[in-house]
Amino acid sequence: MLMKTFSKKWVIVTLILFITTTLSAKTPKYIFYCIGDGMSFSHVVMTQLFYERGGYNDGKESLIFLDFPIHSAIRTHANNSIITCSAAAGTALATGHKTNLEYVGIDPDKKPLTSIAKQLRDKGYGVGIITSGQLNDATPAAFFASQMRKEAYLIGKEGADSQFDFFAGSTLKQPISKDSSQPCLYDYYREKGYTICRGIDGYNTQKNNNKILLLDADSTLTSWLPYFIEREPDQFGLEFMVKAGIETLYNKKQKKGFFMMIEGASIDHASHPNDLASAIKETIEFDRSIRLAYEFYKKHPDETLIIVTADHETGGLTIGENTLRPLYLEYVNYQKRSKESLSKLFSGMRKTGEIDTWEKAKNILAQNTGLWDKIPVNAGEEAQLMQCYYETIVKKSSEKEITLYSQSEPLVAEAIALLNKKIGVGWTTFSHTGSVVPFYAIGCEANQFGSVNDNTEIPNTVRKITKIK
Ligand SMILES: [Zn+2]
Repeated sequence: MLMKTFSKKWVIVTLILFITTTLSAKTPKYIFYCIGDGMSFSHVVMTQLFYERGGYNDGKESLIFLDFPIHSAIRTHANNSIITCSAAAGTALATGHKTNLEYVGIDPDKKPLTSIAKQLRDKGYGVGIITSGQLNDATPAAFFASQMRKEAYLIGKEGADSQFDFFAGSTLKQPISKDSSQPCLYDYYREKGYTICRGIDGYNTQKNNNKILLLDADSTLTSWLPYFIEREPDQFGLEFMVKAGIETLYNKKQKKGFFMMIEGASIDHASHPNDLASAIKETIEFDRSIRLAYEFYKKHPDETLIIVTADHETGGLTIGENTLRPLYLEYVNYQKRSKESLSKLFSGMRKTGEIDTWEKAKNILAQNTGLWDKIPVNAGEEAQLMQCYYETIVKKSSEKEITLYSQSEPLVAEAIALLNKKIGVGWTTFSHTGSVVPFYAIGCEANQFGSVNDNTEIPNTVRKITKIK
């Protein structure tokens, strides 16, 4: 008898718990999925320290996502490699499946996979895909295409076919097909109902059109946007694209809500050549873009979910360089140009013979890195740089330092390596690493992500909370 009453009570309690949980489970109406390409814990910590020491906006800022209530670390490996690439990692983040290196939106047998962006579109959500890199490159592509990464033209076409509401990026890679009977990508997007807006003015004059493809104003641009370190903050970049995306998608009142993927692509591009100042400034631009999502969340706290993570780590960035000494993060602000653009400057001057003395080369390096002028350089360090100058610029005998996305002049590479050492950081590679990467979430059903520890679990949890089968 006693047992019977006891079990009855438990059935009632369990039922009440079940009903309460079911009723309180909400479906987010607005989802921001922010991916810092190549952004490691070290990138995050260094950027936060840079903020705290007044390196940006007089120390008034702090990385917005560090305050998000859900924190985790996620594994990033590909199906066939411990160290992943943006294609396999993007596929895991977009579809919830591990695949091989260079595979975009396809499984290891090359069968197409379905992204959460397409599934949410089919449920009536508006969709926006935004990147500071090229729109048809790996990470954004994983949300709308099923191809090998090198098939940028076909990936681009699948973007238009997806009929997502808002696309934004620096440009479209390989807009012309090898098959001359095929239309160029820009014409194809127009055919599929997209308005192509270029830059801030282009967007402001054409923003009321139905489907938007927003690209940089410079139509001759073939790769990424200029790095944030070389731009004024109010110029066209990731932050503006996110602002435009929120405006466009929120205005589509006939939709159920929206899903927006935001990629900080240039964190990776700056980290491949181990350019710390550019990588920190790109992380700042990524943070400024997430801040817009956070402002939106504050207006719609019960309906908005923000996820922040990375696809993999790039560069093996380490806080510390062989000694237990303080970091000199203020040196980051003395660098005025990215390593890539400083290399281009030196390459140009080498061709014209303009840098015909060590003093001239030293002055240009000093103006653009702070070395000598603001950062002490000892005689041995200067002798090493001078020797590099004679070997590579006077005698023209050395090969360039080649990384995935750029080639650096050896003298610039040496100067930036010295700067990294002076700041107090180390890098282990020009490629990616297999380190775990950060994960943060806030908002509607964010607690469901509390235990994620692999990249595939993120889209699968999005499916669970949006009731996608
Ligand atoms: Zn990369």
